Amino acid sequence: MAFEFDLYVIGAGSGGVRAARFAASFGARVAVAESRYLGGTCVNVGCVPKKLLVYAAHYSDDFEQASGFGWSAGHPTFDWHTLIDNKNREIERLNGIYRNLLVNSGVTLHEGHARLIDAHTVEVNGRRHTAERILIATGGWPFVPDIPGKEHAITSNEAFYLKQLPRRVLVVGGGYIAVEFASIFNGMGASTTLSYRGELFLRGFDQGVREHLRDELQKKGMALRFGTEVTRIDKLSDGTLAATLQDGSQLEVDCVFYATGRRPMLDNLGLENTGVKLDERGFIEVDDLYQTTEPSILAIGDIIGRMPLTPVALAEGMAVARRLFRPEEYRPVDYDLIPTAVFSLPNIGTVGLTTEQAIERGHRVKRYESRFRPMKLTLTDCQERTLMKLVVDADTDRVLGCHMVGPDAGEIVQGLAVALKAGATKRVFDETIGIHPTAAEEFVTMRTPVAD
Ligand code: FAD
Ligand code: NDP
Repeated sequence: MAFEFDLYVIGAGSGGVRAARFAASFGARVAVAESRYLGGTCVNVGCVPKKLLVYAAHYSDDFEQASGFGWSAGHPTFDWHTLIDNKNREIERLNGIYRNLLVNSGVTLHEGHARLIDAHTVEVNGRRHTAERILIATGGWPFVPDIPGKEHAITSNEAFYLKQLPRRVLVVGGGYIAVEFASIFNGMGASTTLSYRGELFLRGFDQGVREHLRDELQKKGMALRFGTEVTRIDKLSDGTLAATLQDGSQLEVDCVFYATGRRPMLDNLGLENTGVKLDERGFIEVDDLYQTTEPSILAIGDIIGRMPLTPVALAEGMAVARRLFRPEEYRPVDYDLIPTAVFSLPNIGTVGLTTEQAIERGHRVKRYESRFRPMKLTLTDCQERTLMKLVVDADTDRVLGCHMVGPDAGEIVQGLAVALKAGATKRVFDETIGIHPTAAEEFVTMRTPVAD
């Protein structure tokens, strides 16, 4: 059978765009369908606008600290509209860049919702297109638990377009998005409470990192409510939202922000017309080659629920494009030692095993830790402290994990991730000369393991 396209990609987000444009550059006939926004979650309602808001929120600290260095700039004021307008302009610019990237690499762009008709046919805007292979890269969508009054809550999708900065915010959840947005609101001066059902947020991160961030957020005035859930949200006559917690107490706020995870975006995708199966969590089931249970259909990115991070979706998109159309350059994605940052204020940067994971996996662990007040703060009243940790295998000397809480943690840990991928031992760290004076040099000057 002659197909219209070699590859039809559903979703022009991080993974879909990468796969589409590289497949086209390898000579394939490629189309991509996008129903909402070019660049997907990351560009429009994820990584990029989030990081811009984090920068904005950090200025409150910067202004305060500047006086210690002799600067006085009057009383700084913050205008939410300016920030959001400028952010929107930047996102529009990026949307244009994504459009050019696709079009210039020869990809046919269909703007509209795509629905699978069968294993080789996609329908967009009432027109059917056939392809030898279809790649599903439709990403995720915020999940809000079903509680009375959930319609009063917002998610990250809406937070980027709020008409004004709320004066009082309740953030529900204890993952990346909750911690980052609680930091954003808090930094911008909103009275911020974070409520999480477990005993300490950021489950899966190093315990020391979690505790350190907890203490730092509290120092910045954020209220943390752990071990509780919101049971209902009521809207009062003046527009105030009253959130009831499990113990019956109520919090009155202007905004309830839910960050309780993301579900796979499968809405009206037509999977029932194909042999594609879901895994037990509801994500699309794929094998190591991103092949679904329907031979002509592949899936990558958040929709497969492996590691919902942009660089991972990019790597998966690249792997698919190469395997299908440039097999001699194919390399499988290596999921080991993926570094990640949480852009809370202060940031977390992490790569490799946490202390707890290393012990669980049977390593005899040596821990190195450094806690200090960054030099940049020494002339200021700010009492923020930085934490750096190395988790080392006591038998092989191999560094198993690096963890940091502090300014630029993501920037610093990205470099260390290369060392860990290369199999660096603690001795290699010790023999590396530091760059002075930096915070990062602490990672190569920690000499004495922490006594357990
Ligand atoms: P997406 O980028 O979500 O793209 C999917 C696209 O498919 C969307 O554009 C959607 O409109 C489209 N689509 C869906 N269904 C259809 C259909 N039927 N027809 C046509 N089009 C369709 N990751 C990081 O690495 N660093 C960060 O700092 C970071 N911050 C984040 C902050 C927030 C608030 C959020 C929500 C996520 C963040 N992420 C971050 C995660 C990152 O955004 C995702 O992992 C990444 O975008 C996944 O890429 P994807 O290609 O799988 O899906
Ligand atoms: P996460 O999976 O990180 O966190 C979800 C949080 O919601 C957890 O604390 C979880 O609690 C809690 N939760 C889940 N279900 C419920 C429920 N029914 N009631 C109450 N709480 C609940 O999801 P996010 O939405 O924060 O982010 C999604 C993904 O996007 C992240 O995992 C990350 O991969 C990516 N991302 C990356 C960023 C970055 O790289 N900086 C930034 C933002 C997002 P529990 O732990 O108890 O299960």
